Amino acid sequence: MIKWQHPLHKGGFIVSDQRRNLFFYYHPSHELDEKLTPLFQLASDNDFNVVNESKEANIIIAIGGDGTFLQAVRKTGFRQDCLYVGIRSHNEAGLYCDFDIDDHDEMIAAMKNAEVEVRRFPVIEATVNGESTYQCLNECSVRSTLIKSIVVDVHIDDLHFETFRGDGLVIATPTGSTAYNKSVNGAVVDPKLPCFQVSELASLNNNRYRTLGSSFILSGERTLKLDVRQDGNDHPVIGMDNEAFSIRNIRDVTIKLSDDVIKTVKMKHNTYWDRVKRTFL
Ligand code: NAP
Ligand code: MN
Repeated sequence: MIKWQHPLHKGGFIVSDQRRNLFFYYHPSHELDEKLTPLFQLASDNDFNVVNESKEANIIIAIGGDGTFLQAVRKTGFRQDCLYVGIRSHNEAGLYCDFDIDDHDEMIAAMKNAEVEVRRFPVIEATVNGESTYQCLNECSVRSTLIKSIVVDVHIDDLHFETFRGDGLVIATPTGSTAYNKSVNGAVVDPKLPCFQVSELASLNNNRYRTLGSSFILSGERTLKLDVRQDGNDHPVIGMDNEAFSIRNIRDVTIKLSDDVIKTVKMKHNTYWDRVKRTFL
């Protein structure tokens, strides 16, 4: 357990005197602006500095929903030397958002000396055509952009595992398992497990194309390689969290667990499974 130290307590583990720069990431709106003024005041009353450049921040706070949190992480480059905090702006139960914009008491408790924990979320990295590598916190999906299905040779390490034909595949991180992955019947995975899950989008199954037909979960030590069959009329698009990359001529995508993690702050009793329960049950 790590305590979020007050600056007077020397040797603060997470938030020392030197690491009190906050950057707020949000989509400005009239409603939000009204709620942010007291929040900024709260921060400065507790000896935090609000900075205008994310590069100067030690703590990056996303205000909105899970989509905003994903964007904040992506737009700031999956920083390893930062803590990310999610604050939900509506009465929702964002899986990445531990704090409620209206619950100032909870935020003060976290900023002062209440017990908070740092959670580390696994990230996957996808390398396209052996050239460019992108990180994803939710998932990477490879999908056909046409009504026509795509054909993909699926390799696990050196093994040719299956030949997939269908709309595409979704490769989700544990925290992404509650998002797109869940809507295609994938399992919800505990983020304490360093792994990633592969799920099918409308696979065709016949004597030529045979797939496992269920989602499967790979250890963080494995590498998944997707070879897109080039038939001249294949037009896959790659989705990385909430961004689409319509790279022309996607030949292959290699996916593995990244060495990087996303560090977030959570209140001690607000576990992932508490939030899964609140969101879905
Ligand atoms: P969006 O299309 O605006 O919203 C997708 C919804 O998913 C939002 O309600 C969002 O929550 C929620 N969400 C995002 N990440 C989640 C997570 N890890 N666990 C549970 N719910 C989550 O897109 P977005 O908000 O920018 O999020 C992008 C994500 O949308 C993608 O990463 C993908 O997982 C998901 N997506 C889902 C489907 C599907 O379910 N069929 C299809 C395409 C994409 P907030 O409202 O709190 O932001
Ligand atoms: Mn191959």
